[in-house]
Amino acid sequence: MSKKIGIMGGTFDPIHYGHLLAAEECRRKLGLERVVFVPTGEPPHKRGRRVTSAEDRYAMTLLATAGVKEFSVSRTEIDRDRPSHTVDTLLEFIAEGGRAKREFFFITGLDALLGIETWKEYMRLPRLCTLVTATRPGYLVAGLDSLPREIKDALELVEIPQFAISSTEIRSRASKGQSIRFLVPHLVESYIESCGLYKS
Ligand code: ATP
Ligand code: MG
Repeated sequence: MSKKIGIMGGTFDPIHYGHLLAAEECRRKLGLERVVFVPTGEPPHKRGRRVTSAEDRYAMTLLATAGVKEFSVSRTEIDRDRPSHTVDTLLEFIAEGGRAKREFFFITGLDALLGIETWKEYMRLPRLCTLVTATRPGYLVAGLDSLPREIKDALELVEIPQFAISSTEIRSRASKGQSIRFLVPHLVESYIESCGLYKS
């Protein structure tokens, strides 16, 4: 059986079907054994907006992946007392599992990958994993051309069915009392409702 492991980082505020679809398509197309979702602790790129508590985001990620044997959730970034960075998370996974770097596949959507040059020590990433990027509506694959050669060489582009949904859109709908049904798993929808998340 494949030992390849996908790692999907994100704020997951909240997790939605776009995340689950991207993870599953990348898993299937690259033959990954499983995908670990890693919700961020204090997100370095999202200061300025009130982010839902890490525990709520973790809980929703657990609810969204419950019963999916190929998906799991890691607390590593949530439990870290410093801001989370991909490079640190990858080093941690590599150290823990005693695995080779070729077994790790870091999955992002195209929008996130296009910003890779703002990430801490991003030029180390190709030596730590295969970078995987899923297509995302509104972001052009041509944008990858301007990235450094080392990044492009470490990159697997995965075309996925285009699902134009974002956590931003879901928060906006929830804050206005609009429906988020079928955009997030049912248990996540119930959690948002019962905890009163995203009420303005
Ligand atoms: P926000 O609107 O708050 O930025 P988001 O929907 O972009 O939320 P994130 O938690 O920022 O969700 O994203 C986590 C990862 O999932 C990122 O790599 C992002 O590119 C990817 N992703 C999110 N939504 C989609 C989607 N609809 N299709 C493909 N990739 C996606
Ligand atoms: Mg985002």
